[in-house]
Amino acid sequence: MNSSDINIKINEGILLPLMEAFYTIQGEGFYKGSAAYFIRLGGCDVGCHWCDVKESWDPEIHPPTNIENIVNDAKSNSNTVVVTGGEPLMWNMFPLTRLLNEYKIKTHIETSGAYKLTGDWDWICLSPKKNKNPLNEIYNKANELKVIVYNLNDLEFAENEAQKVNTDCILYLQPEWSNRDKMMPIIVDYVMKNTKWKVSLQTHKYLNIP
Ligand code: SF4
Repeated sequence: MNSSDINIKINEGILLPLMEAFYTIQGEGFYKGSAAYFIRLGGCDVGCHWCDVKESWDPEIHPPTNIENIVNDAKSNSNTVVVTGGEPLMWNMFPLTRLLNEYKIKTHIETSGAYKLTGDWDWICLSPKKNKNPLNEIYNKANELKVIVYNLNDLEFAENEAQKVNTDCILYLQPEWSNRDKMMPIIVDYVMKNTKWKVSLQTHKYLNIP
């Protein structure tokens, strides 16, 4: 396949820049503790300074991979897939989710919401970022809102974002990993005073699993 054919297939969502895929335990948010197959796609221009997957940012270094191969590996591992990145909504997610649906695999996504929502999802985790705000369309579709708290300003940002989601959306504050010792007591105190929020932790990092 020449490079323009590859680009066409990427635009169609038939090929996706696959950084890694692995079966593990979801560490964060509503499904923490549940086994799931993670598909991590390359490509993100949101630019969070504390990002722990900066190697995902450049899509060019991640091989364009046929979604049939991705789904074949997924279905032999799990009945739940979490698509993450990078920012997966930089790509057309409809063909991937259609294929996953054909095999009755639950489809979860973790996204900043900064790009148009594509794909059919059973669960949308919206993790908005100050650098590049979500598009309006995703707020009433998000099942959980997960705000990463690096400093006190992020609590104000979290409250603003919580105003925009639907009333069933579950609200999480999650300490940014490198700053967790400083922010965790503040978050605990905040959640006890503002009980619409729950604490989310990156439990996979405490468990030392991917
Ligand atoms: S949106 Fe996610 S992948 Fe992109 S820079 Fe921020 S933390 Fe990293």
